[in-house]
Amino acid sequence: MSNLPPNRHPFEVEAFVLKHYDYSEHDRIVVLYSREYGLLRSIAKGIRRPRSRLAGRLDLLRCNHVILERGHNLHKITQCDVLRSFAGLNRDYHALTHALAMGELVASFSQEEDPNETLFVLFLCALEALAAGVEALPLLIWFELHYLEQLGYEQDWEFCGLCEIDFRPRDYHFFDTAHGGLRCEDCKRKETSRFLTFEQVNVLRQLQAAEEPPVEILELKPLALRQLQNGLQAYFEQLAEKPLKALSYLQEDNLGWALQNETRIP
Ligand SMILES: [Zn+2]
Repeated sequence: MSNLPPNRHPFEVEAFVLKHYDYSEHDRIVVLYSREYGLLRSIAKGIRRPRSRLAGRLDLLRCNHVILERGHNLHKITQCDVLRSFAGLNRDYHALTHALAMGELVASFSQEEDPNETLFVLFLCALEALAAGVEALPLLIWFELHYLEQLGYEQDWEFCGLCEIDFRPRDYHFFDTAHGGLRCEDCKRKETSRFLTFEQVNVLRQLQAAEEPPVEILELKPLALRQLQNGLQAYFEQLAEKPLKALSYLQEDNLGWALQNETRIP
């Protein structure tokens, strides 16, 4: 049973704009992630006309108060007021690419009429932190670990996921990008297990335990953080059963950023 009102009845939501693309001459399809109903596919009619009341109000990643009219396939957006524009993202390209990657993850694993208040707040906190200038890559990893928990794939960074051996400090750790979680030397799989240093595992534990976005500088070099992110991306792509474009784009963006930052370390 749908929780939405009957067809052509209005309803209001607080929602992020996750995706949009032009449709016909004047309209635009807008994919929203709402606090109340999860994903909502909608249409902004006439938004591309110069005098549209909606023009400039449904930009990517903004959080808006939106009034819609229920439709069969697409809900019609009738009114929209910006609640949060995360202005800092427009001034920081590196932060923006990470925000888009988070938005892609939310869109890839969310369903219509499947709201998740915790995820909504998690995404909001992450975008606010990014817009405020918090270091983007550790923040993305923090978001991903908590998001996995919301999806029912909470990661255990203490034990081997197969034999459940309790790691000693100098044991080798591997991340299993096919099934998630840690593997020990004996249980690792050649194709899907990625070696993690003890410092990398420690950072994953810290980020997973942190309820708030991480603001302290982590004691991990940018390239080591990037390796963690690449492993998590492989795992997310395995779960989504498709490549994730915005996350792949980050690999290039982060490579330049990491090299730039590595060279600054004496
Ligand atoms: Zn094992």
